[in-house]
Amino acid sequence: MGLNKKSVDDMNVKGKRVLVRCDFNVPLKNGEITDETRIVAALPTINKLINDGAKVILCSHLGKVKEGPNEKESLAPVAKRLSEKLGKEVNFVADYNVTGEAATAAVAAMNEGDVVLLQNTRFRGKEETKNGEEFSKELADLADAYVCDAFGSSHRAHASVAGVTKFISEKGGENAVGYLMQKEIDFLGNAVENPVRPFVAILGGAKVADKLNVINNLLEKCDTLIIGGGMAFTFLKAKGMEVGNSLVDNEKLDYCKEMMEKAEKLGKKLLLPVDTTIADHFPDPIDGPIDVQVVAADQIPADKEGLDIGTETAKMYADAVKSAKTVVWNGPMGVFENPTLAAGTIAVAKSLAETDATTIIGGGDSAAAVNQLGFADKMSHISTGGGASLEFLEGKELPGVVAADDK
Ligand code: ATP
Repeated sequence: MGLNKKSVDDMNVKGKRVLVRCDFNVPLKNGEITDETRIVAALPTINKLINDGAKVILCSHLGKVKEGPNEKESLAPVAKRLSEKLGKEVNFVADYNVTGEAATAAVAAMNEGDVVLLQNTRFRGKEETKNGEEFSKELADLADAYVCDAFGSSHRAHASVAGVTKFISEKGGENAVGYLMQKEIDFLGNAVENPVRPFVAILGGAKVADKLNVINNLLEKCDTLIIGGGMAFTFLKAKGMEVGNSLVDNEKLDYCKEMMEKAEKLGKKLLLPVDTTIADHFPDPIDGPIDVQVVAADQIPADKEGLDIGTETAKMYADAVKSAKTVVWNGPMGVFENPTLAAGTIAVAKSLAETDATTIIGGGDSAAAVNQLGFADKMSHISTGGGASLEFLEGKELPGVVAADDK
């Protein structure tokens, strides 16, 4: 995937209608936005376009919209909050059709620097999610140029992410990426394709099956691959160890063996837990009190469950991070939702916070853990897209990135 993409800095947008795909998929409770991070993250690109005299037309999805258009998944609360953040009016087109007469009229009335927000793109159902040509063209008809700044949706070939660019190109318009997308491409792309070495990749989380391609791809790119979390037990079992009631993907034992052989062949270090924190059973509730014990990885009793990396493993992983120049981390080292089982995840997060290496957190639970622990500003980059960053780490082409013009 070519990563040298045209950005908002490469465009001349004065007087032009620019359609910007944002990620305004914010959490809502009783119609109120409970976390405005995604709105704040979109501001630099929007402000740049306003200051350059563009007519800024914003679009985004919100929620899953399983039962068709509805007020609960309207972007109205986003329009209000965005207007406060920008300090200027955001003209919200509430029409469930997203494009069409109301949108066309609102855009026709725009002056340079004005902002219009279209309704939730998923209100168009499969036309959006199946990359429908008609909806793609209708979106493109509203604009002269297109900017994708929705990294969290860039792994999906949806009309507002991918399809629209074809029709913008057809009329000679430019397709670029915004600052948010650019930052993700720079950090994730450089880490995977051109890392400063030693490059250490840390993978955790629940299941091996969810991260097969990530393990395979990162093994090729990194110098050391560290495995923790629930997925480590499938590797341990594949090495012939007793793992008790720990989480195991029995169908992936051969895969794990293959990966261990591959590491050896490539001369890569593949680090697995040498000890583990065990308990009688999974905590219920997940953050409830629990009695634990640390045992060597090959000494897990048949009736116990491994729920975090052990203290020796935490030290070993932290040491591996110390000598790294680039670190990518995705997935917690244990059931970090429980304070007694968060030690391994905290130790890894702390080692990343303390190193001078470029540190990249690949979204999802590890991003939540880093934020929760107050280490967020110590990381070089925390990806805004869990699924999208995982696909990036798998080496897959992201439709939203591919669709942007090359420089
Ligand atoms: P996301 O999918 O949101 O990007 P992620 O990739 O960071 O998240 P997941 O694969 O979803 O991670 O796994 C996270 C979950 O794995 C957490 O809820 C955690 O409690 C669980 N987990 C971690 N270690 C273990 C373990 N040893 N046994 C069981 N569950 C575990």
